[in-house]
Amino acid sequence: MGKLKLKTLYIAGLVIAGICAPLMPWYCVVLVTLFFLSVLFLACITLSLNFFIPSKCKAITSKKLVALTFDDGPARYTENILDTLQKHNVQASFFCIGKNIPGNPLIMNRLKNEGHVIGNHSYSHGYWFDMSGAGKMLADMRQMDREVEKAVGLRPLLFRPPYGVMNPSLAQAIKKGGYTSIGWNIRSFDTRIKDKQKLTSRIIGQLKPGSIILLHDSMEITAAILPELIKEIESNGYTITRLDKMLNISAYA
Ligand SMILES: [Zn+2]
Repeated sequence: MGKLKLKTLYIAGLVIAGICAPLMPWYCVVLVTLFFLSVLFLACITLSLNFFIPSKCKAITSKKLVALTFDDGPARYTENILDTLQKHNVQASFFCIGKNIPGNPLIMNRLKNEGHVIGNHSYSHGYWFDMSGAGKMLADMRQMDREVEKAVGLRPLLFRPPYGVMNPSLAQAIKKGGYTSIGWNIRSFDTRIKDKQKLTSRIIGQLKPGSIILLHDSMEITAAILPELIKEIESNGYTITRLDKMLNISAYA
Protein backbone atom coordinates (compact mmCIF):
# COMPACT_ATOMS: atom_id res chain seq x y z
CA MET A 1 0.00 0.00 0.00
CA GLY A 2 1.44 3.36 -1.03
CA LYS A 3 1.94 6.31 1.28
CA LEU A 4 -1.32 7.52 2.85
CA LYS A 5 -3.36 5.79 0.13
CA LEU A 6 -5.27 3.72 2.67
CA LYS A 7 -6.26 6.89 4.50
CA THR A 8 -7.74 8.37 1.30
CA LEU A 9 -9.73 5.18 0.70
CA TYR A 10 -10.85 5.20 4.33
CA ILE A 11 -12.10 8.77 4.22
CA ALA A 12 -13.87 8.18 0.88
CA GLY A 13 -15.52 5.06 2.32
CA LEU A 14 -16.55 6.94 5.44
CA VAL A 15 -18.16 9.72 3.39
CA ILE A 16 -20.07 7.20 1.23
CA ALA A 17 -21.17 5.26 4.32
CA GLY A 18 -22.32 8.53 5.90
CA ILE A 19 -24.42 9.41 2.88
CA CYS A 20 -25.95 5.91 2.71
CA ALA A 21 -26.50 5.53 6.47
CA PRO A 22 -30.07 6.99 6.53
CA LEU A 23 -31.10 4.40 3.89
CA MET A 24 -29.64 1.42 5.80
CA PRO A 25 -31.37 -0.72 8.42
CA TRP A 26 -29.97 -0.09 11.92
CA TYR A 27 -27.96 -3.32 12.08
CA CYS A 28 -26.14 -2.41 8.86
CA VAL A 29 -25.18 0.94 10.38
CA VAL A 30 -23.79 -0.94 13.40
CA LEU A 31 -21.82 -3.36 11.18
CA VAL A 32 -20.42 -0.57 9.00
CA THR A 33 -19.43 1.42 12.11
CA LEU A 34 -17.68 -1.65 13.55
CA PHE A 35 -15.85 -2.16 10.26
CA PHE A 36 -14.52 1.40 10.20
CA LEU A 37 -13.49 1.20 13.87
CA SER A 38 -11.65 -2.09 13.21
CA VAL A 39 -9.70 -0.57 10.31
CA LEU A 40 -8.77 2.37 12.53
CA PHE A 41 -7.59 0.00 15.28
CA LEU A 42 -5.50 -1.97 12.77
CA ALA A 43 -4.00 1.29 11.52
CA CYS A 44 -2.90 2.11 15.10
CA ILE A 45 -1.13 -1.20 15.70
CA THR A 46 0.33 -1.69 12.20
CA LEU A 47 3.03 0.90 11.47
CA SER A 48 3.57 -0.50 7.97
CA LEU A 49 0.08 0.62 6.90
CA ASN A 50 1.46 4.22 6.98
CA PHE A 51 -2.03 5.41 7.85
CA PHE A 52 -1.33 8.41 10.11
CA ILE A 53 2.30 9.02 9.08
CA PRO A 54 4.77 7.02 6.94
CA SER A 55 7.08 4.71 8.90
CA LYS A 56 10.19 3.05 7.48
CA CYS A 57 9.60 -0.67 7.98
CA LYS A 58 12.04 -2.00 5.37
CA ALA A 59 14.46 -0.79 2.71
CA ILE A 60 13.56 -1.02 -0.97
CA THR A 61 16.57 -2.93 -2.31
CA SER A 62 17.42 -6.05 -4.23
CA LYS A 63 20.74 -6.37 -2.35
CA LYS A 64 20.82 -8.96 0.41
CA LEU A 65 21.09 -6.42 3.22
CA VAL A 66 19.36 -6.56 6.61
CA ALA A 67 19.47 -4.34 9.71
CA LEU A 68 19.35 -5.37 13.37
CA THR A 69 17.49 -3.14 15.84
CA PHE A 70 17.37 -3.48 19.63
CA ASP A 71 14.66 -1.78 21.70
CA ASP A 72 14.26 -0.85 25.39
CA GLY A 73 17.89 -0.41 26.51
CA PRO A 74 20.23 0.42 28.04
CA ALA A 75 19.23 -2.79 29.74
CA ARG A 76 20.56 -5.86 31.46
CA TYR A 77 21.89 -7.59 28.32
CA THR A 78 23.07 -4.57 26.33
CA GLU A 79 26.75 -5.07 27.17
CA ASN A 80 26.63 -8.77 26.39
CA ILE A 81 25.02 -7.93 23.03
CA LEU A 82 27.65 -5.24 22.37
CA ASP A 83 30.41 -7.80 23.01
CA THR A 84 28.88 -10.20 20.47
CA LEU A 85 28.40 -7.45 17.86
CA GLN A 86 32.00 -6.31 18.35
CA LYS A 87 33.31 -9.86 18.01
CA HIS A 88 31.46 -10.30 14.70
CA ASN A 89 32.20 -6.77 13.51
CA VAL A 90 28.48 -5.98 13.12
CA GLN A 91 26.82 -2.59 13.65
CA ALA A 92 23.24 -2.23 14.82
CA SER A 93 20.70 0.35 15.99
CA PHE A 94 19.59 0.72 19.60
CA PHE A 95 16.27 2.44 20.28
CA CYS A 96 16.91 3.47 23.86
CA ILE A 97 14.45 4.49 26.56
CA GLY A 98 15.44 7.91 27.96
CA LYS A 99 14.85 7.07 31.62
CA ASN A 100 17.29 4.11 31.32
CA ILE A 101 20.18 6.35 30.22
CA PRO A 102 21.24 8.07 33.48
CA GLY A 103 23.60 5.72 35.32
CA ASN A 104 24.68 3.98 32.12
CA PRO A 105 27.37 6.29 30.69
CA LEU A 106 29.64 3.37 29.81
CA ILE A 107 27.02 1.65 27.68
CA MET A 108 26.07 4.91 25.97
CA ASN A 109 29.72 5.61 25.14
CA ARG A 110 30.23 2.08 23.86
CA LEU A 111 27.15 2.44 21.60
CA LYS A 112 28.62 5.58 20.08
CA ASN A 113 32.28 4.54 19.94
CA GLU A 114 31.60 1.09 18.51
CA GLY A 115 29.67 2.59 15.61
CA HIS A 116 26.07 1.76 16.53
CA VAL A 117 23.14 4.09 16.05
CA ILE A 118 21.24 5.46 19.04
CA GLY A 119 17.55 6.03 18.34
CA ASN A 120 14.74 7.54 20.39
CA HIS A 121 12.19 5.13 21.90
CA SER A 122 10.61 7.83 24.16
CA TYR A 123 11.76 8.90 27.62
CA SER A 124 9.09 7.18 29.70
CA HIS A 125 7.97 4.25 27.49
CA GLY A 126 4.90 4.49 29.72
CA TYR A 127 1.91 2.25 29.30
CA TRP A 128 -0.30 5.32 28.85
CA PHE A 129 2.07 7.10 26.44
CA ASP A 130 -0.37 6.69 23.55
CA MET A 131 -3.17 8.35 25.52
CA SER A 132 -1.22 11.62 25.80
CA GLY A 133 -1.72 14.64 23.58
CA ALA A 134 0.83 15.53 20.92
CA GLY A 135 2.43 18.26 23.07
CA LYS A 136 3.03 15.96 26.03
CA MET A 137 4.39 13.24 23.74
CA LEU A 138 6.82 15.61 22.06
CA ALA A 139 8.02 16.88 25.46
CA ASP A 140 8.69 13.25 26.47
CA MET A 141 10.56 12.56 23.21
CA ARG A 142 12.67 15.70 23.59
CA GLN A 143 13.53 14.76 27.17
CA MET A 144 14.91 11.52 25.72
CA ASP A 145 16.96 13.51 23.18
CA ARG A 146 18.46 15.58 26.01
CA GLU A 147 19.58 12.42 27.83
CA VAL A 148 21.38 11.22 24.70
CA GLU A 149 22.94 14.65 24.18
CA LYS A 150 24.13 14.72 27.81
CA ALA A 151 25.61 11.22 27.49
CA VAL A 152 27.23 11.28 24.04
CA GLY A 153 26.61 14.71 22.48
CA LEU A 154 24.31 13.47 19.70
CA ARG A 155 20.66 14.30 18.97
CA PRO A 156 18.68 11.33 17.59
CA LEU A 157 16.39 11.76 14.58
CA LEU A 158 15.14 8.18 14.37
CA PHE A 159 12.10 7.44 16.51
CA ARG A 160 10.55 4.08 17.20
CA PRO A 161 7.04 4.30 18.72
CA PRO A 162 6.70 2.54 22.11
CA TYR A 163 4.84 -0.78 21.68
CA GLY A 164 4.77 -0.09 17.92
CA VAL A 165 1.55 1.89 18.32
CA MET A 166 0.76 4.89 16.10
CA ASN A 167 -2.09 7.37 16.45
CA PRO A 168 -2.91 10.90 15.22
CA SER A 169 -1.30 12.61 18.26
CA LEU A 170 1.95 10.67 17.92
CA ALA A 171 2.02 11.28 14.17
CA GLN A 172 1.73 15.02 14.92
CA ALA A 173 4.51 14.87 17.55
CA ILE A 174 6.83 13.00 15.17
CA LYS A 175 6.21 15.53 12.41
CA LYS A 176 6.67 18.52 14.72
CA GLY A 177 9.87 17.08 16.22
CA GLY A 178 11.34 16.36 12.77
CA TYR A 179 11.81 12.67 13.50
CA THR A 180 11.66 9.73 11.10
CA SER A 181 9.36 6.97 12.34
CA ILE A 182 11.03 3.55 12.23
CA GLY A 183 9.12 0.28 12.31
CA TRP A 184 10.20 -3.24 11.31
CA ASN A 185 9.11 -6.02 8.98
CA ILE A 186 10.50 -8.90 11.01
CA ARG A 187 9.09 -9.04 14.52
CA SER A 188 11.13 -11.63 16.39
CA PHE A 189 8.75 -12.03 19.33
CA ASP A 190 11.88 -12.39 21.51
CA THR A 191 9.86 -11.10 24.46
CA ARG A 192 7.52 -14.10 24.18
CA ILE A 193 9.29 -17.05 22.54
CA LYS A 194 11.20 -19.18 25.07
CA ASP A 195 12.82 -21.67 22.70
CA LYS A 196 16.15 -20.46 21.25
CA GLN A 197 16.04 -22.60 18.11
CA LYS A 198 12.46 -21.57 17.40
CA LEU A 199 13.30 -17.89 17.81
CA THR A 200 16.31 -18.09 15.49
CA SER A 201 14.46 -20.02 12.78
CA ARG A 202 11.48 -17.66 13.00
CA ILE A 203 13.78 -14.75 12.12
CA ILE A 204 15.83 -16.60 9.49
CA GLY A 205 12.66 -17.87 7.76
CA GLN A 206 11.47 -14.30 7.17
CA LEU A 207 14.69 -12.78 5.81
CA LYS A 208 14.28 -10.68 2.67
CA PRO A 209 16.49 -8.01 1.09
CA GLY A 210 16.04 -4.80 3.08
CA SER A 211 14.55 -6.39 6.20
CA ILE A 212 14.51 -4.55 9.53
CA ILE A 213 14.61 -6.99 12.44
CA LEU A 214 13.06 -6.08 15.81
CA LEU A 215 14.87 -7.42 18.89
CA HIS A 216 15.17 -6.35 22.55
CA ASP A 217 18.41 -5.90 24.50
CA SER A 218 16.39 -6.39 27.68
CA MET A 219 15.90 -10.09 26.90
CA GLU A 220 18.29 -12.84 27.96
CA ILE A 221 17.24 -15.11 25.07
CA THR A 222 18.16 -12.39 22.56
CA ALA A 223 21.70 -12.12 23.94
CA ALA A 224 21.90 -15.92 23.95
CA ILE A 225 20.89 -16.47 20.30
CA LEU A 226 22.76 -13.49 18.84
CA PRO A 227 26.02 -15.28 17.90
CA GLU A 228 24.10 -18.05 16.12
CA LEU A 229 21.66 -15.56 14.56
CA ILE A 230 24.49 -13.50 13.05
CA LYS A 231 26.15 -16.66 11.76
CA GLU A 232 22.93 -17.91 10.13
CA ILE A 233 22.06 -14.53 8.60
CA GLU A 234 25.53 -14.40 7.04
CA SER A 235 25.51 -18.03 5.89
CA ASN A 236 22.24 -17.24 4.05
CA GLY A 237 24.20 -14.72 2.00
CA TYR A 238 22.98 -11.59 3.82
CA THR A 239 25.13 -8.70 5.02
CA ILE A 240 24.10 -7.02 8.27
CA THR A 241 24.23 -3.28 7.78
CA ARG A 242 23.27 -0.26 9.84
CA LEU A 243 19.65 0.88 9.52
CA ASP A 244 20.47 4.48 8.56
CA LYS A 245 22.92 3.34 5.87
CA MET A 246 20.46 0.78 4.49
CA LEU A 247 17.67 3.40 4.35
CA ASN A 248 20.02 6.18 3.29
CA ILE A 249 18.76 8.56 6.01
CA SER A 250 20.43 10.61 8.77
CA ALA A 251 20.45 9.16 12.28
CA TYR A 252 21.31 12.45 14.01
CA ALA A 253 20.49 16.13 13.71
ZN1 LIG B 1 9.76 -0.81 23.63
